[in-house]
Amino acid sequence: MKLAKHILIALILGAVAGLVMNLSMPNAFTSIDKYFLTPLGTIFISLIKMLVVPLVFFSIVLGTANIGDPKKLGKIGVKSIAFFLATTAIAITIAIILASIIKPGTVGTFNTEGLSYESQEAPAVTDTLLGIIPTNPVAAFVEANMLQIIFFSVFIGIALAFLGDRVKSALKVVDEANEIMLYLVSLVMKFAPYGTFGLIASAIGKQGFDAIKAMGLYMIVVLVALIVHFVLVYGGALKFLAKKNPIQFVKDFFPAMTVAFSTSSSGATLPISMKLAQTKLGVPKSISSFVQPLGATVNMDGTAIMQGVATVFIAQVYGVNLTITELAIVVIIAVLASIGTAAVPGAGLIMLAMVLNAVSLPVEGIALIIGIDRILDMARTAVNVSGDAVCAMYVSQTEKGSEEQYTENEKSLPQAQ
Ligand code: ASP
Repeated sequence: MKLAKHILIALILGAVAGLVMNLSMPNAFTSIDKYFLTPLGTIFISLIKMLVVPLVFFSIVLGTANIGDPKKLGKIGVKSIAFFLATTAIAITIAIILASIIKPGTVGTFNTEGLSYESQEAPAVTDTLLGIIPTNPVAAFVEANMLQIIFFSVFIGIALAFLGDRVKSALKVVDEANEIMLYLVSLVMKFAPYGTFGLIASAIGKQGFDAIKAMGLYMIVVLVALIVHFVLVYGGALKFLAKKNPIQFVKDFFPAMTVAFSTSSSGATLPISMKLAQTKLGVPKSISSFVQPLGATVNMDGTAIMQGVATVFIAQVYGVNLTITELAIVVIIAVLASIGTAAVPGAGLIMLAMVLNAVSLPVEGIALIIGIDRILDMARTAVNVSGDAVCAMYVSQTEKGSEEQYTENEKSLPQAQ
């Protein structure tokens, strides 16, 4: 809790410092940012990113080996994916409804003339899904291709479970390597308050406040939709599906939410969110290590919310009326787009082009929101990582009986000397 408090203080101080520098000394800010704030943030992000690949690998291998039975693993996978898809579809629906009621694109004047947006090549969702089998696992590790790493690790874990005593020492090595990674996460987290300060001060200091004024209502709709989704959908899922207290969840998971907020990257937040799920939220390692990396890659409710609001907003700005069928298409495509979105800053905006294309809206509309997207990215990433943790808690509740078995398996591992 002490760490959470320190991060919160750093968050507030960073925001205030960034704001003050933005308003009163924009010139000095550039140097302060370059030589102090950005390096501070970069050190922190690099430190946690350094742990993502090894942590995900070791913990999935260990988790899979503990679950042992591929059928059970399949059940956990199916439950998680069903949860991910359902919550993402609800998220976009909330976004579309709120944007249609509040109509942010009809208030104020938006100059659409001369707007240009260079769409980047969005990875095809089918490629993301088909590319899950790594033809070269080493390349998957080098590129930090999360889905491929998950796939490979699950296979190794299954092999360890099947080979049992014959590979006892390999399993022990994996268990100890996993311990080492988790220890390093706690070590790196000690730097979190400083990193958070640097990241937030830098992001706020760089922000163009005129852009925020013009886009205020759009931002409010996205933020309200994120809050509604968090409170109703995650709160409801925690209370009724996971049988846990939502307030306690927020307290325990808060450090991960702030790290997501300051780094805008679900991928970089993974080591912290996994550690908290395992140590504070009571999710067995075997479930957390499987559900959370998968969720960080494919489950992005916050991103889907931004895409839903942005699509309706752009339609309103361009005076296009979306029919119910088109809105249904938006829901489906945004679910796919959020699956294909990489867990890094700003990725959601690139995938928005795919949603706009699907209902023939001008992609240039993205140029309207790009200026203020950084701030929304912070908020939606916090929602993205929370969704994965809530899913892990839901799955562990439904696996209660087996969960004891997994925990037993975890305990019965040969202990480190
Ligand atoms: N930054 C988001 C994440 O990492 C993705 C996005 O919406 O841009 O979860």
